[in-house]
Amino acid sequence: MNEKKLNFNSKVIHGGQNPDKAYGAVMPPIYQTSTYAQNTPGDHLGYAYSRSGNPTRSALENSLASIENGNYGMAFGSGMAAIDAILKLLSPGDEVVSTSDLYGGSYRLFKKVFENYGIVFQFIEMEDVDNIEKYISNKTKLLWVETPTNPMMSIIDIKGVVAISKKHNILLAVDNTFASPYLQQPLDLGADIVMHSATKYLSGHSDVVLGALIVNDKELADKLYFIQNASGAICGPMDSFLALRGIKTLHVRMQRHCENGEKIANYLNAHSKIEKVYWPGFVAHPNHQIAKEQMSGFGGMISFVPKGSSYKDAIKIVESLKLFTLAESLGGVESLVGHPASMTHASIPKEEREKVGVVDSLIRLSVGIEDIDDLISDLEQALN
Ligand SMILES: *Cc1c(COP(=O)(O)O)cnc(C)c1O
Repeated sequence: MNEKKLNFNSKVIHGGQNPDKAYGAVMPPIYQTSTYAQNTPGDHLGYAYSRSGNPTRSALENSLASIENGNYGMAFGSGMAAIDAILKLLSPGDEVVSTSDLYGGSYRLFKKVFENYGIVFQFIEMEDVDNIEKYISNKTKLLWVETPTNPMMSIIDIKGVVAISKKHNILLAVDNTFASPYLQQPLDLGADIVMHSATKYLSGHSDVVLGALIVNDKELADKLYFIQNASGAICGPMDSFLALRGIKTLHVRMQRHCENGEKIANYLNAHSKIEKVYWPGFVAHPNHQIAKEQMSGFGGMISFVPKGSSYKDAIKIVESLKLFTLAESLGGVESLVGHPASMTHASIPKEEREKVGVVDSLIRLSVGIEDIDDLISDLEQALN
């Protein structure tokens, strides 16, 4: 079977997967072991120590590579650990140009940890790709792109950024957590590194924290593997198994996330109590055309601002929702609601936050795969 030829809906199930060699188990066993017997020193069956490699993690890593159309996948203990590994490719004095509207934890890692090691970060508006080049110097070594952005759902033209990264020979990493490979495949568009918080859509059941990197280039893969093994922020076999199991239904879950997302975006947009809805599927969304070109659907992430509302009103709405659980995170089968200003984006200073539109009354939905009528009734009662 030439698995590179498989379509996405088959890759999520079969990509990089073979029945286990010992007993033909269809799902890879959870190899809950730290070490492996050797015949003579160095003579083993491919695994020596579970930080360096574990068969259950390998099965997941092969799946990750397959679904992102990459050659190499690496799994980490969290999305942040995966980002941390990318930043360790850099040296003091190097510069990073990043999307300004990004996951709060990424901002925190950049500003509060890696700035102390002499890496310089610039957070810029990337919706207009022509805006990027003026921030690039000969010290710029990494472009960091998150699209759709969190929580404003702006879309960045990946191909446009690829052109800049190639021209200046700078690595381009894309945080593909929000879209998932079902909707968007950045390596095919020319990005160098795809990063995932597999905690979200890939695993999809809110039961595991896990991160992933996927690349095509062998030299880059070797460097990242070296960091993964040297720093050791790996995920365990049980979590690898759960993520792999989640990936097998990614396509059917995403299809429903998109359907429900579209209905809820339209419902909110037509609602008299809503001021603004952010969702890339609207024809009126400023980057709708790019979204249509680089994504195969618009997903289930939606942000909105209720009319004339304050911090307190927004809190009241999120507390009144019953089927939407008030919680951090996203991408699970269950619908979640969040208040970015006090939750995911609390680590970003208020002025920085408001510059990109994360006002105090902004509410973010991760639309799950429940019955759409039940979800809309829940929103209706909370808004009333
Ligand atoms: C959650 C998230 C992360 C961080 O991943 P963890 O698995 O929580 O460490 C990074 N980027 C985005 C877009 C996220 O949503």
